[in-house]
Formats: sequence, C-alpha cells, structure tokens
Amino acid sequence: MVNDERIKIRFVGTGSAKTNLKRFHTSFIISRDVDNILIDCGDGISRKLAELQINLNSIKNILITHTHPDHFSGIAALLVNMKMIGRESPISIFIHQDLMDFVKYFFAQSYLFFERFDFPVDFKTYNCEEKTILNDCISFQAKENSHLSKYHQLVKSKKVKSASSSFLFEIGNKKIFYSSDIGDKSDLHLFKDEFNACIIESTHIEISEIVEYLNGNSSNKYFLVHIDEEREELLKSNLLDKISKGKVFIPNDGDEYLI
Ligand SMILES: [Zn+2]
Ligand SMILES: [Zn+2]
Repeated sequence: MVNDERIKIRFVGTGSAKTNLKRFHTSFIISRDVDNILIDCGDGISRKLAELQINLNSIKNILITHTHPDHFSGIAALLVNMKMIGRESPISIFIHQDLMDFVKYFFAQSYLFFERFDFPVDFKTYNCEEKTILNDCISFQAKENSHLSKYHQLVKSKKVKSASSSFLFEIGNKKIFYSSDIGDKSDLHLFKDEFNACIIESTHIEISEIVEYLNGNSSNKYFLVHIDEEREELLKSNLLDKISKGKVFIPNDGDEYLI
C-alpha cells in the first residue's frame, strides 16, 4: 500500500433533518480511485446528486446508518432513478442486520422488484460485532450508539427494530471515523483508534461538548456535519481558531476534500 494514497470525501449534503435550501441532509461519498461508498440517502437525494452532477452510475456502494427519514427516505427513488438511466453495473446496499427485513419489505411495497432491474441490487447486512469488508481496500466497523435510546419504550411497545451505529472506515491506509447521528457525547469515543479524519455530527450534542471533544483529540482533520441552520453561526464563532488553523472544517454541500 502506498503511503501518499489520497482518499476523497465529497459532501453531498451537510444539513440536519430540517429541510432547508442551503444544506441538504447529511450524506457524503468516500472514494478511492473508482471505488466508493455513499453514506446515507435522505429525502430528495436523487435531486441533490443531479444538482451536484454526480453520475448515478458512478456510485458503487450505499451504506444506511439508520432509518430516520433524513438518512434513508430517498433511497427508493434513488434506485428507481438508477433504473431509469439504464444502469447496468451492480450496486451493493449495506443495511444493519436488524433492519434488513423492514428494508426489503419497504422496497417490495414501493413496487421496486429488483428482478425487473437491469442491474443487480445486492443487499448486504452489517452488524456491530464484526468488520464488514467490501473489497481489498474498503472496510468498515459499526458500533451501536445511543442515538435511538430515547425511543426505547416506544420501540418496545410498537415492536419495531432499533439500530443506529457510528462507523470506522478503513480505506486504503486511511482511517475515517463517522459519528453518524449520536445520542450523547460518549458516542464520540466508541472507537479508540487514531484517525486520519473525523466526521462529526453537530445537532445532537452541545457546542461546548464539541469544543471539549476537539480539544482532547489529535486527528488530522475534523469535519462538522448535520448542521442546524439556527446554530451555524454560533458553531462557527466557537470554533473560529480551529477553523483558521485548518484543523476543523464546516463543509458546504458539494465540497470535496482529500485525506
Ligand atoms: Zn439525522
Ligand atoms: Zn437520526
């Protein structure tokens, strides 16, 4: 493995669950050469990908972190659009093992019958016990976080599944931590590794807790995503010194970075 290998992160969306015109729901693509993985497919992602001129045929893998609508509800329309542009190359979709039955039923009831598609749609489960290996150069480990803990009683009484994870991606020789949506600042410490980059959500955590986390860690680059319109200016003003030193980035939709 060469040491100067560059991994690209392209932010498709950087916003929170609240729909607004400045930031699409948080979603991004990590790539190494032509290999890539799209993380999450919030409501309206097909339109956002079109706006950013990202060719739907170029997406090789999709990972769903959890099934809140800002992370999941655009996936059916995305697959329909892939069919409509005549995609032929296979796509792999990674879903937590506890959610797979729901997702398959959701697609079937959306009348997405993959035997009618001209490209293979390959569903793959992941879990929080073992590493998921996509190929020679991309793998990820999921760890359960506390994002959905607040629903504990409702999940039980309504007999639905609950699965939300944070992730450590290993791509080439780089390690990227993605908090995904969290429930508590302790979720930021689920992995003890050193990372080349951290992508941290900023909605379900106090700004002071983000500052505390950044002060105690030494990764090369931090990207803050899931940005609430109302908190953006406050977030920026609290992190001004770290942003000016090039340690912390608050990306906009469409921005790309090399790691
Ligand atoms: Zn979210
Ligand atoms: Zn969420």
